[in-house]
Amino acid sequence: MSNTTDTPTAAPDYVQRAKDLVAQMNLEEKALLLSGDGWWRTHRIERLGIPAIALSDGPHGLRKLDEAGLGQSVPATCFPTAPGLAATWDVDLVREVGVALGQEAQASDVQILLGPGVNMKRSPLGGRNFEYFSEDPLLSGKIAAAYIEGVQGEGVGTSLKHFAVNNQEFERMACSSNLDERTLHEIYLPAFEIAVKEAQPWTVMSAYNLVNGCYASESEELLTQVLRDRWEFDGFVVSDWGGINDRVKGLAAGNNLEMPGSGDHNRKKIIAAVQNGTLEEVVLDRSVIQLLAVVLKAQASHKPGSTFDPEAHHHLAHRVGGEAIVLLKNDDDVLPLNAAKIALVGAFAKHPRFQGAGSSQVNPTRISNAYDEIEALVGDAVELSYTPGYDTEGNVSEDQISEACKAAESAEVAVVFAGLPDSYESEGFDRASIDLPPGHNRLIEAVSAVQPRVVVVLLNGSAVAMPWADKVKGIVEAWLGGQAGGGAIADVLTGRVNPSGKLTETFPVNLEQTPTTLNFPGRNGHADYGEGLFVGYRYYDKKQLQPQFPFGFGLSYTTFAYTEIKTGSAIFDADAGAELTVEVTVKNTGSVAGKEVVQLYLHERAPRSIRPEQELQAFTKVALDPGEEAVVSFSLKQRNFASYNPDLHEWEVSSGVFDLRVGGSSRDLPLQAAVDVRAPQLGLQALTSQSMIKHFRVHPKGQAFYAELVTAMGFPKLVEPEEPSADANMTPEQVAAMRKVRAAEFVFVNETPVIKLPAFSSGAFTEARLDEILRAVRTD
Ligand code: BGC
Repeated sequence: MSNTTDTPTAAPDYVQRAKDLVAQMNLEEKALLLSGDGWWRTHRIERLGIPAIALSDGPHGLRKLDEAGLGQSVPATCFPTAPGLAATWDVDLVREVGVALGQEAQASDVQILLGPGVNMKRSPLGGRNFEYFSEDPLLSGKIAAAYIEGVQGEGVGTSLKHFAVNNQEFERMACSSNLDERTLHEIYLPAFEIAVKEAQPWTVMSAYNLVNGCYASESEELLTQVLRDRWEFDGFVVSDWGGINDRVKGLAAGNNLEMPGSGDHNRKKIIAAVQNGTLEEVVLDRSVIQLLAVVLKAQASHKPGSTFDPEAHHHLAHRVGGEAIVLLKNDDDVLPLNAAKIALVGAFAKHPRFQGAGSSQVNPTRISNAYDEIEALVGDAVELSYTPGYDTEGNVSEDQISEACKAAESAEVAVVFAGLPDSYESEGFDRASIDLPPGHNRLIEAVSAVQPRVVVVLLNGSAVAMPWADKVKGIVEAWLGGQAGGGAIADVLTGRVNPSGKLTETFPVNLEQTPTTLNFPGRNGHADYGEGLFVGYRYYDKKQLQPQFPFGFGLSYTTFAYTEIKTGSAIFDADAGAELTVEVTVKNTGSVAGKEVVQLYLHERAPRSIRPEQELQAFTKVALDPGEEAVVSFSLKQRNFASYNPDLHEWEVSSGVFDLRVGGSSRDLPLQAAVDVRAPQLGLQALTSQSMIKHFRVHPKGQAFYAELVTAMGFPKLVEPEEPSADANMTPEQVAAMRKVRAAEFVFVNETPVIKLPAFSSGAFTEARLDEILRAVRTD
């Protein structure tokens, strides 16, 4: 992993212009550019005509504050937060949101929007889960790539964050996320990798935390070797706000811009480091060129005087909100609502929680609530009542409960709005539990005791426990649905929109069931990622646990049938560039139009290393009228079949049979097809004195010595594991027992490390001979 590029590879004209400008700068000016001018902009250099650029949060709406970072941010459309965007599983729709965000940023003279966030939802307790897309890296990466394409297509840069392994708020600036290399590459990096490779964000934001003891903001491995050398990132890296520790070390590792600025504090350190020779000036130049190339691109992409249409964006937020809603339960077709008297219970019906707290908080252009929107849709034909049920913290009083129950009892159906208040879920701290406020649970229980037809609508940014799930007829997950979330809920409840969202995170039965129960959030500055690869559904599948609702799950007012799967070929030669096409036929078998998220997972039958049971490798959303059938097609490539080999520090495919599983949820995959994957030998594990005899058996150079090693163990007959010849007088039981012994001996011999052979053979096989063999099998 070397090849550190000396020059960035951004669009060549900006890079060349940046180089020309840097050649005219003195040391002070170079250092000046690498630190912010206050909270939200970079420095300008009048003398050279270098402009400042403005950076603002993100991700689900523009949060442009004044220079001091104070006051109310400019009015902006608050779109559904990340879990909602992802739950649409619709990359085209997310791209549209990106376009709208880009337009709003242009209109406010903002050059970089600080998002999207693609960290994995490792635990439902993660305080910022409402800013992240999913527990699955592929889904997060694809949604992020579409978002970035949309924003950047409008001439506004994005900041892919928080790079990397930033999955908790507890001690967020001081905690080391400790994980093995394979887990890093298979779970925590791919969303960034997909977004970088497919959409080239203009900037990447380094995370606050440490990764295996090194600050992410100072990690040369992450910021240069992985990000620039492997993935060919050509923008600049910005620190998270206040995320710089050792400025010079961070700069040398690949961190370009310190935000917010620290006055001349760190600037002086950069200058001193160059003067005393601890930082080479070419390294500083390279960093400034990388930054400046983006500044120049931003300047060229700026559209002065641009405006946006708040009405159109509100409608877009409304449409996206409807696509994001996940229908989790709908017994006896309680939904869509079909009643003359409906009781709405819960303050969220009139005062929704529609976004999370912290740096992503948007000042919405307007807010719709479910009560008004339902009333507008059903008109006078329906008698609608409302009782608040709880206060802003989710506490209930006896009076509130009895008022709610009275209203519910006298109606034909009760819709209870529940979820998480602000104090339960925010940037800056993790959730204390996955429970709803006790008052919300109590209210739901009480209402369902008096009314058999209860629908619960949830407003929350991440999974919650639902101890009352069996007692209600309907459950609607509406997320933190943005400023138009109320309208989106009304659409789904009344059937104006047929729900088509699917979960992008597993909803556990309780906290104890989650993969990180034993490790989250760590302590004394260390978060050990002991669950390894087994995050989200990878864990529930491997342990064969039944969660409350599985990853990928979501109901519709119609039904779909998966009728056929066809692969382009039964054999896939997994060479670089090769593609395997998969065609799947899906039919709308119900009576209303609807959309289905078709998901494709891969299962490797006999993996050489421990692998998740199945992993999402492709998905698409398809709209179908009643009775309509469509063939959706996927294309799988080498990387879809690969796992990361930490010995080789490379992705690798091993030959063998893979099952393709396709359906509408990770736990409902009715279509299956097998494909025989033939993989090229990507690299060889070096044979050492610790290698086992079996490693020699499959190694091109080691094979020649296999028989000698087996013989040295004293089992010459085991060179080939052929069937032992049975004596004619032996009973079938004796033959079976003999075979068992032979098989056990075969394993015993093959799993012996070769370093043992001189002792095991009492010196007959010498150490000198072992050294000779090890020299002969060297591949480097
Ligand atoms: C957050 C970032 C955010 C930045 C600027 C930080 O505290 O972690 O996500 O973009 O502040 O507001």
